[in-house]
Amino acid sequence: MKTIIALSIVCLPLKLLTVTSPFGYRINPISGKIEFHNGVDLRAKYDTVYAVLNGIVRSECYNSSFGMAISLQNGEITSIYGHLDKFLVNAQDSVRAGQPIAISGSTGRLTAAHLHFSVRYQNRYINPLNFLYEILKTTNHEQKL
Ligand SMILES: [Zn+2]
Repeated sequence: MKTIIALSIVCLPLKLLTVTSPFGYRINPISGKIEFHNGVDLRAKYDTVYAVLNGIVRSECYNSSFGMAISLQNGEITSIYGHLDKFLVNAQDSVRAGQPIAISGSTGRLTAAHLHFSVRYQNRYINPLNFLYEILKTTNHEQKL
């Protein structure tokens, strides 16, 4: 993973990152049951969503929990963006980090508009904030050299 990260250029998924619900176990705001939240919820209201890494759009779909969602693949890393209002890219497109890929919204099962953002590495969900932090740290370090 370190090598992939070192070679990657990363961008934040939104201009401003405000976490409204963290990664991990939580009480589902709708069902009231304990569940595993496989990503983070970020404050967004019909804002532009950016690709965090270069990659290929694997799918854009509608799913009952995440609403309109995009998954973007970069090697063994998949980033997933949910509750979108509008897609700005198509499946199979190749996108660059920082490219606008969607407009966030409130589709799917949720209480208020936000962006759901997940990162999967080797088919396992990892904490997306730690992931972004690790990459940004590496990128900044490289820029200083
Ligand atoms: Zn979520």
